[in-house]
Amino acid sequence: MDQTTNRKVARLIESRVCMTIRSYRGNLLVVTHTIDAGWIPNGNEPGIEGHVQALKEYLASTGRPEADPFLLRLALTVPGRQRGVVPPVKALELNGNGFTDRRKQEAAGQIDRLNEVLSLARRFLSGLSTDTSQALRQLADIAVAPADKASSDWLDQIQSLSTEESGKVSAIALQCLENIARPVHELGVDLLESLACFRFEPLGSDICRLLRTKGIFWLASLYRDAGESEANALLDLLEEANDTLAINHLLLCVAWTRSNIAVERFRDWSQQSPSWASLLHVPPADYLPSAGWCLNANGELHDLISMNCHRLQPADRAGPDAIRCFIPCRQKCPGCESPTVVLFDFTTIQAELPENAPVKVYCCLYCSMFEPTFVRYFLDQSWEWLPSEATNPRTFDFVIKPRNVSLVMEKCPPFASEKVFELDDATAIGGVPMWLQDAEYPHCPTCGNWMTFLAQHDNSAVQNEGIFYAFFCPSCKMSAVNYQQT
Ligand SMILES: [Zn+2]
Ligand SMILES: [Zn+2]
Repeated sequence: MDQTTNRKVARLIESRVCMTIRSYRGNLLVVTHTIDAGWIPNGNEPGIEGHVQALKEYLASTGRPEADPFLLRLALTVPGRQRGVVPPVKALELNGNGFTDRRKQEAAGQIDRLNEVLSLARRFLSGLSTDTSQALRQLADIAVAPADKASSDWLDQIQSLSTEESGKVSAIALQCLENIARPVHELGVDLLESLACFRFEPLGSDICRLLRTKGIFWLASLYRDAGESEANALLDLLEEANDTLAINHLLLCVAWTRSNIAVERFRDWSQQSPSWASLLHVPPADYLPSAGWCLNANGELHDLISMNCHRLQPADRAGPDAIRCFIPCRQKCPGCESPTVVLFDFTTIQAELPENAPVKVYCCLYCSMFEPTFVRYFLDQSWEWLPSEATNPRTFDFVIKPRNVSLVMEKCPPFASEKVFELDDATAIGGVPMWLQDAEYPHCPTCGNWMTFLAQHDNSAVQNEGIFYAFFCPSCKMSAVNYQQT
C-alpha cells in the first residue's frame, strides 16, 4: 500500500468522521461553555473529591468504569446545568438536593456521549491533543466549522476510488466493526454501505460472511450479489429464525443476493408457503421488489430496474440535452380537475430509454400523492388517462414550476439510491428508487405485474418535499407515477 493511497483514504475517512462529530455539537458546546465559565471544579474544593468518588462507584456499578479525572469533574456540573444552578456543582450540595442516583445518571449520560465522540476522534483524527479538555475543545471547533463543500459529494468520492483504495476503505471499515464504541462501529457499517451502494462491484462474499457472523443484516443491500454460498448461509439462518423482524431482514438479504438459489427458493415459496410465512404480513415474493427484481411468469429473475443509471442535474437554461420537468398541460386530471403535468419529457434522450418506455411521463401531481396515477401511452406519443372512477374534485395547492434538468452522462452506480438521504439531489433515471418509506412498486392495472421503475424526481431540488417516482409496463404501455415523503 503506497503512501498516496493511505493519505487519500485517511482524508476521506476523516471527512466522514468530522460529519459525525458535528452531530455531537450540542454536547461539545456545553463543554466549552462550562470550561470558559470556570465552572469545572479543580478537585480541591470541599466535597468534590467525595462526589467524584461517588460518581466513579456509580459508573463502575453500571458497567462503564471511568478514570479520566477531567471527564469526572466535568460530569459533576451536568445536573446543575440542567437545572440552571450557578455555579452548577452547587446542585450536588445537600440543600440543593444532593448527588442523587438520578443526578448520577445524568452525569453518566454526558460521560457516555463524550466518550463516544472521543473514541471516534482518537481513532481517526491526527493531531488531537492527549489532554481531554484540549481535545474536547478541538472537537467543538470541528463541530461548529461549516462542512467542507469540496468533500460533500460522498457518492463521487466513493465512486472514484481505485480498487486498491476501496480495498483499504473496506479493511478499515472491518476494523471499525470490532470496536465496541457506538460511533466507530456505525462508521464501519456506514463505510461498507457506501461501498455497496456507490460502487458498481458488490462488497464480495468474504465481507458479507463477516457481516453475517456479526449479525449485521441492515442495510440488506450490503448483501447485493453476495454469491450462491452466502445466499445458502443466509437461508440456513432464515430456517432457524423465529421472530418477524429477523425473518424480514433475512428475506431482504436473500433477495439482495440476486443469486440463483434465491430465485429457486422464492419460486418454491410461491408454490408452497413456508411455515414462517404465517409471521409475515405479505407473501415472501413481495419482498423481492425491494431488491429491484421479481419472479416472472416462468419463475425466473425479472429486473424491475434498469442498470443503466444516470443522475439528472440542474441546468440553468435548456441545452440540447436538457430534460424538461413539471410542464403543465391543458388537459385536466379526471380525478381532481387540476392540470395534468408532464413529470418528465425525455424527448432529448430517447436513445437512453429502456425499450418501450414512455418518452413523456404524464401524471396528476396532486392525485399521485395519494395513489399511483396511471396513463396509457402510445408509440406516436399520444396518451390517455386510464378510465377510472371519478373522484371528488380536490383543492389543488401544489405549485407547478417548469424546470429543466440536463442529463449527466457519467454512469451512476444503479444502487446509489439505496443509501437514502445521502444525495443532495436524488433525481435520476434508471437504478433503484430512493424509497423514503417501504418500497411501493405499483402493479400494472392491465396485466397485474409489478411495473418497472423508470425515473424519480427529488423535490428537495426545488425546495419541496418528497420524491415522485415514474414506472412503466413495457408490455401494456402503461405508465404510473406515485409519491413518498418522510
Ligand atoms: Zn388529480
Ligand atoms: Zn402490464
